Amino acid sequence: MIDELPEDWYRRFEFKIGVASKEQLPVDAYREVAFAGRSNVGKSSVINKIVSRRNLARTSKSPGRTRELNYFSYDEKTFIVDLPGYGYAKVDNPTKHAWTKLLNHYLEERSSLRGIFLIVDIRHPLKNFDQAMLEYCGANNLALHIILNKSDKLSINNANKAMTDIKEEIREIDASIQMFSALKGIGVEIARHKLAEWLFD
Ligand code: GDP
Repeated sequence: MIDELPEDWYRRFEFKIGVASKEQLPVDAYREVAFAGRSNVGKSSVINKIVSRRNLARTSKSPGRTRELNYFSYDEKTFIVDLPGYGYAKVDNPTKHAWTKLLNHYLEERSSLRGIFLIVDIRHPLKNFDQAMLEYCGANNLALHIILNKSDKLSINNANKAMTDIKEEIREIDASIQMFSALKGIGVEIARHKLAEWLFD
C-alpha cells in the first residue's frame, strides 16, 4: 500500500481533535503513530518538518491544548497523535495526575497505536521521561523509533559519537534510531519512510 500513496501524502494531515479524557478518544479501530518527547526537544518542529507544514503542530501549543493528545488525521482512519510534552512547570498536581493517567491509559490500552516516535535532544538524550517511555514500549510491546533531534548543534563527529553511545545504552531494546535536525532538514526522508511503514504498510 505504501507504493500507492500519493507523492505528497505527508502533507495531508489536518488537525482533528484535542483529547483531554479517555472518553474523547476516537474509536480504537484504525491506525495511528504517536509522537512523544520532553518539552523543548523540538517535537513540534520535528512534526512540522515531517508533514512539511510550518505550523501544524503549533495547534498542540495553543492555550488549552498543551495537556491534550492532539490528533491529526490523514483520512479519518489514519492519524498522527502529538502527546503532551512533559516538563511544564506551571501545572498543578491534580492536572498533572489526570493527564498522566490519560497518557498511561493511552499507552497501555490503545490497539490502534502502531508505534511511538520518541523525540530527544541529541545533546541530552534519555532523561527520566525517555527512560519511562522506553520501559512502556517494552512492557506493552510497542514499536519505538527514536529521533535524535538538533543534530545540527553538534559536529558530525560528535553527533555520530552521541548516536553510537545511545545505541549502546539501548542495545537491549528493540528500537530503530536516527539522526535528525528540524532546523536543517536532516533525516526527514528516513522519518517519513518509517511513518509510512507504520501507518500504511
Ligand atoms: P517542543 O516543545 O518539543 O515542541 O519544541 P519546539 O518545536 O517548540 O522547539 C523548541 C526550540 O528548539 C525552538 O526554539 C526551536 O526553534 C528549537 N529547535 C527545534 N528543532 C531544532 C533543531 O533541529 N535544531 C536547532 N538548532 N533548534 C531546534
